[in-house]
Amino acid sequence: MPTDARVDAKAAIEQLKELRGLTADEHGAQRVAWTPAWLQARAWFLSQLAELPVEHHCDAAGNSWTTLQGASKKALILGSHLDSVPNGGWLDGCLGVIAALAVLKRIAREYDGKPPVTVRLVDWADEEGARFGRSLFGSSAFAGTYSIEADRGRTDTNGIRLEDALAECGVSIDSIGEAQREQEDAAAYLELHIEQGPVLATMGLPLAAVTGTKGVERHAITFRGQEAHSGSTPMTARRDALAAAAKLALEIRTIAMRHPDAVCTVGSVKTYPGIVTAVVGRCEATLDQRDLNADVLAKMYREAQEKSALFAAEEGCTVEWSRIWNIAPEPFHPELIGLCEEAIRETTGRSHRMPSGPLHDAAEVSRAGIPTAMMFAQSLKGISHNKIEDTREEHLELAIEAFDLLASKTVDWIQDSLAATGERMHRI
Ligand SMILES: [Zn+2]
Repeated sequence: MPTDARVDAKAAIEQLKELRGLTADEHGAQRVAWTPAWLQARAWFLSQLAELPVEHHCDAAGNSWTTLQGASKKALILGSHLDSVPNGGWLDGCLGVIAALAVLKRIAREYDGKPPVTVRLVDWADEEGARFGRSLFGSSAFAGTYSIEADRGRTDTNGIRLEDALAECGVSIDSIGEAQREQEDAAAYLELHIEQGPVLATMGLPLAAVTGTKGVERHAITFRGQEAHSGSTPMTARRDALAAAAKLALEIRTIAMRHPDAVCTVGSVKTYPGIVTAVVGRCEATLDQRDLNADVLAKMYREAQEKSALFAAEEGCTVEWSRIWNIAPEPFHPELIGLCEEAIRETTGRSHRMPSGPLHDAAEVSRAGIPTAMMFAQSLKGISHNKIEDTREEHLELAIEAFDLLASKTVDWIQDSLAATGERMHRI
């Protein structure tokens, strides 16, 4: 293969370091969406497009689109996000954007500026939701799953309204739905991201094909018993709301562990009156359950409800559930997952499949009906959303090379499906 037909992974890693130098301080990355540091990161990104035969624009939701026009209008989209949480890591989101840029450059070189299909790079606006609590802002506008009315009233910790912060960045909240126009001619979407968890590090693997994003059931559970004096109330006469909640907090581990990838977490427990001399009369707990399989998720939710009723009865208490939030699992495209595994195997010799616990922009794109796949790169110690987030440099190189190979395979895949549907082909 001629050298100019290879992705320049080392140069991409240098770009990641340059971006870190520009937008991080001693506490970590500060590229919070709709802030000057984020705009600076995006301006830097634009400066990297010089000399490339591309068109650039931002859509109505602030997503940044870079398009390399191909012989066919049908587009392969590569993307991720430049925004970070406050005091974040250098790779979360940026790896995917910079790797996508490296792939776009390689394709532009290889095909002399005119690839067989159009290749687009998207930097999604506000993936993290760090300032206003609205994650996946830009990608949900693109997918049409957003709700302007739910988001309009959001404010940051200084009381600044989301609507006003968007306007500062040239985005009108009432128009964000127009970002759906960018779906036109989208044939496939690929995203490279760090894993942000410990699975690949534990297995000693650099990369994995992501099978989809897990669905989430998130509930508030309130156990009610009877407040009573801790000295005068015999053990047998108690209606201890915390005892019932504690049984459930242990039981959800058994419920989750019946399924290989399921997770269940009781993340918060509040007791009332919450003093050392009283039996707990009321206990408010939260439950977060996740799995890629909707049936498994529904089963775990049912089991947790049944067990909570059993434990409440055992402790002389009552229990009430109220849903905080839920989202359906989003399995990625089976053929693209297969191509992703092939690319990883051909690059590293081994491959692995795993679901994603965290949500990603890719899930929104997939929800819009666009064939989607994601690749994970190992995170050192499984840590992310923190300045110590890191990935070995050789793993970053492998990730960029495997992602590039996946992009090539997906270009072929798009051409094959165009051939099957009769669009005139321009194979080079
Ligand atoms: Zn991310």
